[in-house]
Amino acid sequence: MAKIATTWLCCCSGCHISLLDLHEELLNLLENVELVHCPVLMDVKEIPDEIDVALIEGGIRNEENLEIAKEMRKKAKVVIAFGTCATFGGIPGLGNLYSNDEILEKAYKTTLTTKNDEGIIPSEEVPSLTSRVKPLSEVIDVDYFIPGCPPNPEIIANIIKALLEGKEPELPKKNMCDE
Ligand code: SF4
Repeated sequence: MAKIATTWLCCCSGCHISLLDLHEELLNLLENVELVHCPVLMDVKEIPDEIDVALIEGGIRNEENLEIAKEMRKKAKVVIAFGTCATFGGIPGLGNLYSNDEILEKAYKTTLTTKNDEGIIPSEEVPSLTSRVKPLSEVIDVDYFIPGCPPNPEIIANIIKALLEGKEPELPKKNMCDE
């Protein structure tokens, strides 16, 4: 049975919610695959060794994202950039308009709801930011792209089914939120 893994990096998890929006169709899909890693459905921390198809949501914003993307690529036969953030950088890519220092200053010190009298910006217990937000294809080889914010559930299912049947998936012709 084909092993499918999903993961999320710098993202909002909306692409995974779109997968859940398949409802009953998701159950049909899962009858024919072994889901080995999926943060929205299972609590598995380690990425398993042998993966047939990996869907990666989100782009690269920090060193942990980078490490996970590389590990997925090493272990998966097929890697899919899942959603606009993974494909292009998406909304988190707006962070590229600012320096990392400006972002950290804003996030930890100057937002209206922040109370941080000592002005501490954590550096040891959180992964460091990468120099900028990058789409997946800038750091690993990507086999297929499913743009969309989030991608249409039917398109996700059709692509997974086609890959499982050994067919070339029909990819969306448009890359925005419309169908
Ligand atoms: Fe969220 Fe849209 Fe990015 Fe998916 S593509 S993670 S829905 S912002």
